[in-house]
Amino acid sequence: MSSERTGDVSRRTFLHTTGGALIGGAAAALAVGEATGVASAQLRVPPAPGPKLGFAVVGLGSLAINQILPAFAKCERAKPAALVSGSRQKAETLAVRYDVDTKHIYGYDNFDAIANDPAIDIVYIVLPNSMHHEYTIRALKAGKHVLCEKPMANTPKECEEMIAAAKAANRTLMIGYRLHYEPHTQAMIAIARAQEFGPARVIVCDAGFNIGDPAQWRLNKKLAGGGSLMDIGIYALQAARYLSGEEPTEISAMSYTTPNDPRFKEVEETITFQLKFPSGVLAHCTSSYGCGLNRFRVFAPKGSFELEPALSYNGIRMFVHRGGVMEERVIADRDQFALEMDHLAESVARNTEPLTPGEEGLRDLRIMTAIYEAARTGATVKL
Ligand code: NAD
Repeated sequence: MSSERTGDVSRRTFLHTTGGALIGGAAAALAVGEATGVASAQLRVPPAPGPKLGFAVVGLGSLAINQILPAFAKCERAKPAALVSGSRQKAETLAVRYDVDTKHIYGYDNFDAIANDPAIDIVYIVLPNSMHHEYTIRALKAGKHVLCEKPMANTPKECEEMIAAAKAANRTLMIGYRLHYEPHTQAMIAIARAQEFGPARVIVCDAGFNIGDPAQWRLNKKLAGGGSLMDIGIYALQAARYLSGEEPTEISAMSYTTPNDPRFKEVEETITFQLKFPSGVLAHCTSSYGCGLNRFRVFAPKGSFELEPALSYNGIRMFVHRGGVMEERVIADRDQFALEMDHLAESVARNTEPLTPGEEGLRDLRIMTAIYEAARTGATVKL
C-alpha cells in the first residue's frame, strides 16, 4: 500500500496486481504532500461568515438531538433560534445546552405563534413522515422558510400542496437530502459527469439497516407512508438519479417481507427495484429493513467507482477500480447537516433556489409510488 496527496484529495492505492508503476507515481506525489505538510483543504480560510439565520427545530427526536442540534456548532450561516416539542421539559434541557432563550420554545398546540417570532427565519421539520405536510404548510403560512426532512411527505399530492404553499407564501422550501451537500457524494457525481471511466452503463445502489423496536413509527404505515423504501431506500433512489444525472423512464420491482415478523405487520421489509434511464443506463437498487446495506457503485467501460459506506453520517469512503487496481480517494469528512443548513441559509439570504427544492422531493415520491405499483403488480411501470 502506498499513499499520495494531491490538492484536496489524498489517495491511498491498494495494488491488487504486481504492477509497480503506480507505486513510483504515488511516492513522488507523497513527497509533494510531505513538503507542504497538510492538504490544501486544511489551509483554506473560509469566507467571512455572514449573519446567521435562525432555525426553529421541530420534533426533538433522535435525528434532531444527535445530529442536527450538534451540527449548528459547525455552521457559518445557521444558528438554533427556537425549539418545538411536545415535551416542554426536553425542550428546556436542550435550550440550555444550545443557548436558546426559553421564550422561543413552542409546543405543537401553539406552533402557529412562530409567525410573531422574528428570531425564526427557517423552520426545520424533523417529525415523522406523515406530519411533514401539515407542519411545512403551517410554517410557510407563518411566513417562514422551510427545511423538511426526507421523505418530503407520504404522497405526491401532499408534496404538490407543500410546493404550492411555498409559492403562495413566497418562501423557500428545501428537502433535507443531506448527501447532496456531502463531499464524497459530490466527488462521485463529478466523476460520473466528467465520465472519467467512460459513460456509466450500470449503477448499483443499496441502502438498508436491520430495524429494531416493532412499536416505532417507522413501522406504522399511517405515520411512515411505507416501509424501508420510504425511509432508507430513498437514498438508493436518489443516488441512482444523481449519479446518472437523468430521470428514470421505466421501473420494475420486487419485494419480500418475512412472514410473522412482528416488525412488519404494516410495511414492507425489503424491496429491490430496477430503473431504466433515457441514455440506456440501468440501475439496480435495494432497500431493506432486514439487513445493513450501504454502498453505491457506478460501472463504466474503463472501470468503476464506489462509495462504501455511502450514506453514513460520517466515515464515507470512495474507491475507484481500474485495470484490476483498486485505489482509495481520501476526502476530508465534513458535517453533512451543517453544510445542508448553511446551504439553505445562503440560498435564503441570496434569494436563490436551493440544490434540493420541494420539486426534488416530489420527483422521488412519484417514483416511489411507481416502485410500489411495480412491486404490487409485477408489471413494468412506465413514467
Ligand atoms: P424520532 O422518532 O427519533 O423523532 C421524531 C420526533 O417526533 C420525536 O421527538 C417525537 O416525540 C415527535 N413526534 C411528534 N408527534 C409524533 C407522533 N405522532 N408519533 C411519533 N413521534 C412524534 O425520528 P427521527 O429518526 O428523528 O426521524 C424524524 C424525521 O427525520 C423523519 O422524517 C425521518 O425520515 C427523518 N430522518 C432523516 C435522517 C437523515 O439522515 N436525513 C435520519 C433520520 C431521520
